[in-house]
Amino acid sequence: MKTLDEIIDMHANENGNIINLPVSFRYKKITYNKYETKEFNNRLYIVAKDPVLKHNNNIYGSGYFLGDTITPIDCKSCDLLFSLLKLYEKIRETKNVKPNKKNAEYIANWCKKYGLPFQGRLRDINREVIDDLYKKNELLGFSVEDFMSNLKALNKTFSAYLYVKGIDKDRENISGLSFEECKEFLKSQFERLEMFNRFDIEKLEFITVANNLFQAAMYQLMLLTTIKRDKDGAFKEIAICKCCNMPFIQNRRNQKYCSDCSPQKAYKRKISVKKRG
Ligand SMILES: [Zn+2]
Repeated sequence: MKTLDEIIDMHANENGNIINLPVSFRYKKITYNKYETKEFNNRLYIVAKDPVLKHNNNIYGSGYFLGDTITPIDCKSCDLLFSLLKLYEKIRETKNVKPNKKNAEYIANWCKKYGLPFQGRLRDINREVIDDLYKKNELLGFSVEDFMSNLKALNKTFSAYLYVKGIDKDRENISGLSFEECKEFLKSQFERLEMFNRFDIEKLEFITVANNLFQAAMYQLMLLTTIKRDKDGAFKEIAICKCCNMPFIQNRRNQKYCSDCSPQKAYKRKISVKKRG
């Protein structure tokens, strides 16, 4: 039998410090092949069509039962967070951040890759329409308006985080919030996170599960806030790429460009801008 000290040793590094836990959580990817934009009562909705796997028709209670369309994703990266922030940038570039057909198209494309963002448990202002869609047409959907307000809130939380951490000081004007107000805002957003506790009896693992993709993205942001410099001084921190202005995780300190924008690529871009100008 092992002593408690031996067991603790097994979980320590060479310096005797307890090793960091691998942070793992799960979100459910709900996969459909097609997404369509539809209008009901003058509001835009995106509906999922053509499930990749036939879903079980057994619905309801606290949410829709989607059976085999759900793939649990074990997550240790910031994929959802960054993809949603990029989507927000893309929408903002159109200079029209209201729910419209063009923005719905961008969102539908995002869904194709990442799945249905909500599992019907969403606190949608148009919940009745969504329930009707399912009962009458077996269509799962969500309102573009609701998606966009979640997207906007995610971006605001991210900006507040960058500002408070001093990563991007240009993000000072976050809906006119002061530094202290930004901190309070971050606190309130993180404390509202809704995650479920599960225990995987096959793997004997405790798992935290997000109930929709926005919650999962917020959880990823929360994990980002816990990233520290590692033992050999490598600086895993979030930074804004000097070339494309998008966030990325630094692999070394003072890394200025994301993997998509190597310095060479950035240089070429600069030259071509100069030529055009
Ligand atoms: Zn970049």
